[in-house]
Amino acid sequence: MSNEAIAKGEAVLLKQARDKFAATFGRQPTAAACAPGRVNLIGEHIDYCEGFVLPVALPFVTLIVGGLNSTGECRLVSILGTGEEVTTSFPAPTASAPLKPGPPAWANYVKGVVANFPGGVGGFDAVIVSDVPMGAGLSSSAAIEVATFTLLEGLTGRSVGPVEKAKLCQKAEHEFPGMPCGIMDQYIVTMGKKDHALLIDCRSLESQQIPMQLGDLVVLVTNSNVKHQLTGSEYPTRRAQCQEAADRLKLPSLRGAKIEDLEKLKQQKCDEVVLKRAKHVIEEISRTEEVARVMKNKDFKRVGELFYQSHESLSKLMEVSCPELDQIVNIIRGAPGVYGARMTGGGFGGCVVTLVKKSEVENLKKKIVSEYKGTPTFFVSQPSDGVRLLKL
Ligand code: ADP
Ligand code: MG
Repeated sequence: MSNEAIAKGEAVLLKQARDKFAATFGRQPTAAACAPGRVNLIGEHIDYCEGFVLPVALPFVTLIVGGLNSTGECRLVSILGTGEEVTTSFPAPTASAPLKPGPPAWANYVKGVVANFPGGVGGFDAVIVSDVPMGAGLSSSAAIEVATFTLLEGLTGRSVGPVEKAKLCQKAEHEFPGMPCGIMDQYIVTMGKKDHALLIDCRSLESQQIPMQLGDLVVLVTNSNVKHQLTGSEYPTRRAQCQEAADRLKLPSLRGAKIEDLEKLKQQKCDEVVLKRAKHVIEEISRTEEVARVMKNKDFKRVGELFYQSHESLSKLMEVSCPELDQIVNIIRGAPGVYGARMTGGGFGGCVVTLVKKSEVENLKKKIVSEYKGTPTFFVSQPSDGVRLLKL
């Protein structure tokens, strides 16, 4: 089995979805939409401190085709990456019978969107196909939500702006699967743009397209394929530690803090761990802003240095890395054609993101496969477009 996932491409997925739709429902779909997965380049563990994130959309997509029906039922088939098919059906929501979360678990990602679609929607049939790996940290969840929302826009002729769409899909994920996610995933999946990263200000929720012309470079995503089972308290504990630092500085969040403020915290005899967390947040905010700035001038050498610094900080100061992620970054460090690498996502497993010359990707993959103690999977990509309606 290959350890590299190659994006199948829209045309292949569209044909697969159309064929399945015709075979299942005995007619042709009338609308189609597709939405990408994403990876965060830098800005880790600072979203909850009102900092910045800088994700890109990937060429891996979830594609959905559909048509309205007159049965009042929402009927869905999803063909998973493994080839396995899952189905669900539920009555379209009405004022007296709104939708509620419930099994099967995957259907909640769709139900949440249907429940939050402005003006409501009657019955419809749909087929979903995807080459976004599920549960790998590339946000297959936002991809299915935003694709579904956009399909409903196509079917009903009613649409909302991109920010509103992202917020409604976030609300859907909060309410139905019950995942209290931030706004990053739905933002980038909605607003991603080819050859651009999206700088999202987690305080104002404004975003800015940052040109990212990679030329002969690619973004290599390496999945460590480990996810350490933790107690579940790591994330809230770090949030609380960052808030404690902000409170001591009399700031609403660490967004407003400066590097000199670390001295103030020391003078207050602040706990060593809280100090480390604050140092990470203050420096990671400034690294993320700098990456966005230097990327415009294609200074990928500096971007790479900042990637390594970010990883080091997440590992030593925030303490959210793990031996496998550290090992992968160490294997990559200094390899030919590499500009920089870092863990991406919440940590304790998941993926490493690397900027590397296209011509060196194969050698780098071989090096990782032979030296990494686990089993990696690779996704080679460049910044891609966000959600779109497709012509049928
Ligand atoms: P990630 O977003 O990192 O891929 P999540 O746990 O947030 O991981 O979301 C993965 C879940 O989303 C899956 O377990 C499944 O329930 C649902 N999901 C995502 N894409 C699809 C799809 N194409 N078909 C059915 N369910 C999907
Ligand atoms: Mg997700």
